[in-house]
Amino acid sequence: MSSQTPLPSVFTRTVPRLAPDGMGKGLFASTDIKTGEDVVYIKVPFVAVLDKPRLDDTCSGCFGKKQLESETDLKACTGCRVVKYCDRACQSKDWKFAHSLECPIFQKVKPMVLPNNARAILRMVLRTGRNKYSTQELDVFSGLETHMQQIEQSQAQLDRVTLTARAIKNYSETDMNEVSIAEYAAKLDLNSFNLTTALYDRIGLYLHPYAALINHSCNFNSTVGFDGEELFVKAVRPIKKDEQIFISYIDTTTPHEIRRTELSERYFFDCRCTRCAKGTDTPEDRFSGTPEDTSVLETAERKALELMQSASASETKPEESIAELESALHILHKTGVWPLTRQPYASLRDQLIVSLLSAGNFGRAFIQAAIRYLRVDPALYSSAHPIRHMHAWILVKLSIYASQSLDPNSKESAFLQKFEINFYFILWYILADLASKQMESCTVPSFKNLVGSHFAQVHNEFKVYGVDPSTSRPLFAAEWKKLERLVSLALEKE
Ligand SMILES: [Zn+2]
Ligand SMILES: [Zn+2]
Ligand SMILES: [Zn+2]
Repeated sequence: MSSQTPLPSVFTRTVPRLAPDGMGKGLFASTDIKTGEDVVYIKVPFVAVLDKPRLDDTCSGCFGKKQLESETDLKACTGCRVVKYCDRACQSKDWKFAHSLECPIFQKVKPMVLPNNARAILRMVLRTGRNKYSTQELDVFSGLETHMQQIEQSQAQLDRVTLTARAIKNYSETDMNEVSIAEYAAKLDLNSFNLTTALYDRIGLYLHPYAALINHSCNFNSTVGFDGEELFVKAVRPIKKDEQIFISYIDTTTPHEIRRTELSERYFFDCRCTRCAKGTDTPEDRFSGTPEDTSVLETAERKALELMQSASASETKPEESIAELESALHILHKTGVWPLTRQPYASLRDQLIVSLLSAGNFGRAFIQAAIRYLRVDPALYSSAHPIRHMHAWILVKLSIYASQSLDPNSKESAFLQKFEINFYFILWYILADLASKQMESCTVPSFKNLVGSHFAQVHNEFKVYGVDPSTSRPLFAAEWKKLERLVSLALEKE
């Protein structure tokens, strides 16, 4: 089992050590680790806060963990009315952790609500002032990179950090000087993780100095997930004792140049991983052929990206977004050589699925999610990768809608009906596959519970109707073939 470090609430199969190639400190496996096993587990964050829009719909005590189990009416803190909670237990936990210190400040700055990074820095400053961190925690935190030198070279970045520090100093009336607060701000910028739900929706910012020691590689061996405020770093492939632990700081499905620009601009380093060493001779950079005029590809990419940006602008209506994203997909498809898995093709489809879901168009969302499940994800993510499991879960949910509540008069319903698919069989098939891979998947406990309980329920419903799915494989395989035909035809029309 994982052993506990001198840091409170950190359990791990790693040890910190100096890493090669100027990477500073890194974490190294202290034992062999199997796929899906915990590499690092941290029970309590150093700091975690919600994004501003999530303050209204997510509990600031459990970060939505209880809401995943059952829908809850959140109640606002009667002091500041900025943060909300499921119940007294969530409220009193957060009150003791930090909210008692920040609540009067939230009241003072009303009606302004501080942005996520300011709320995170404020929490760290206030908790430091009240000796709420252990000396070991502060020791590891003080060793984290700030890259202040690089920040000082950019006036815009420097202004942003100094202004934030000054504001925090004023609000908190802390004894800590502005320079130290600026360092907190820089450390947060550089070392924080996206806080996500167990279903991998981003909800906020998270920082823990021990997890921050993990270095980046585009050829990572571990992934990060959250279950409420608990952090799980899990092995996405087998890791040998003494191997360095790597996660990815960025979306590593993008081509060479984009990855390197993002890493140097946001994290100030030149990636020397084994994938970057291969240059552009990798699947994520390749096309499936060469058009006569290569400028065709550049034009197509530029147009697709413009449409993608416009579709994600906040003032764009869902129906407009959908139309823009579909024409962007069409542009890439028309080049004839753009693989479905080469970016921005895959991201466009992800975004389209989100837009279709928010517009309530579940029939079209089902078709797109099926394309992603069958044709895109197997190339982009290894089978233990949580994103792959989460995408499968979305397809499960959409199969339920498709089997129950499609508008029979809609265009996509006519298209779906042509294939005479029994969505209930599809649903069972995907759930059975997800359930069988739970042990080796990097998903978090709440996600595994959801899959487990849904699978048991669907499996039993089949049995009630006299079908034993585990002995009726040919029946299921036939339905699966229909789904593959549907995906092929939908892609031809793209
Ligand atoms: Zn809660
Ligand atoms: Zn409050
Ligand atoms: Zn790299």
